[in-house]
Amino acid sequence: MESTKIEDAVKQQFSDYLRSNKLRSTPERHAILNAIYTMEGSFDIETLLSHMEKNEKFHVSRATVYNTIALLINANLVIHHQFAGESRYEKCFGRELSYAICTNCKKVTEIKNIKIKDNISNNIKKLTLTHYSLYVYGLCSKCMRTAKRRNKRASSESSTKKR
Ligand SMILES: [Zn+2]
Repeated sequence: MESTKIEDAVKQQFSDYLRSNKLRSTPERHAILNAIYTMEGSFDIETLLSHMEKNEKFHVSRATVYNTIALLINANLVIHHQFAGESRYEKCFGRELSYAICTNCKKVTEIKNIKIKDNISNNIKKLTLTHYSLYVYGLCSKCMRTAKRRNKRASSESSTKKR
């Protein structure tokens, strides 16, 4: 989808959500949605607030941001990630989000260009896929090297003890 089409579809989805839940459609709420959809990658609330002050020339309170993010999550427009116990948010409309997370150092890396949408769609026939987020866990290369070194040291220590 072209970016203007996505922008329109996102605005429409949020307006429909607000209307069907009898919530007010305020300029602040739409400015927050707009700011989120101009940001790349995941972000925390502080980053969003400073992004809005710089780019949107719009002052919104922290409470309004929290409140609006909760609505956007319910409207399926924003996803909430828990990375290393930290709350992060990201636009999710029509997106395929994949992350590799190291279980040791908690480093999070976005995995780009893995195409598994068709595979998911083929396997889940009862669901029309709109977006997804995938978290893949394991040891990052740095932690893997450290673990190997530690294992080697441990095994050489135990073999010297035997002698
Ligand atoms: Zn690691």
